[in-house]
Amino acid sequence: MKYKAFYKLSYGLYIIASEFEGKKAGYIGNTAFQVTSSPSQIAISCHKKNATAEFILKSKTFSLSVLKKESDTSIIGEFGFMSSKDTDKFRNVETITAISGTPIVLSSSVAWFDCKVVNSIDVGSHILIIGEVLDSDVLSGDEPLTYDYYREKYKMLAPKNAPTYVEKEKLDNETVTKPEVKSESAAEVESKSELSTYTCSICGFQYNPEEGDPALGIPPGTPFEDLPEDYKCPICNAGKDYFTKN
Ligand code: FE
Repeated sequence: MKYKAFYKLSYGLYIIASEFEGKKAGYIGNTAFQVTSSPSQIAISCHKKNATAEFILKSKTFSLSVLKKESDTSIIGEFGFMSSKDTDKFRNVETITAISGTPIVLSSSVAWFDCKVVNSIDVGSHILIIGEVLDSDVLSGDEPLTYDYYREKYKMLAPKNAPTYVEKEKLDNETVTKPEVKSESAAEVESKSELSTYTCSICGFQYNPEEGDPALGIPPGTPFEDLPEDYKCPICNAGKDYFTKN
């Protein structure tokens, strides 16, 4: 089996949230899809260890917010890589409630769905949860974020609780049927070898010195070693110490 074949499946990215007994939980998932139109039903696949799964099953409600293409990276970092058990992910985002009463995240979102749980199926590590849409709305005409764009932009792996998570070693050791052939000059190869990429051990974000981080005023060509000591991972906010050389 070639794990990279799964990368050819197209997904979006969504904030899935719920509330039980006054406590809120939420996470970012890529596995959400419409299963029927009449009634309108949406299915999500949620890891059993995910705090939000418990909240959804107990409250029988969840919301789904469709993230926009250029989403706030701090939202992706907190909802995607932190646990609702340790972090109040909702303190810096705008939310509303609709019919079910569960929180709906508006920040960085282009549309939302308010759902009540009508079925759930144990699929091993995850629970497939099916919700009937009680209400929904479109917030903007911005382009939605796709999983493919997210992976390409941030050079990131899926969080460990994602249904699409594949261990990096499996991908690295995998040979593809038709490997890409790139011709590079000796000078290009040499200059690249001098500039190593570094990966955040918390979220998997990869710092590429050739690109730098212009949004933070770090010009292309800046080696990781020359980044300021207070440099933080743009996704999860981890410090330089959490980065390892590739
Ligand atoms: Fe990170």
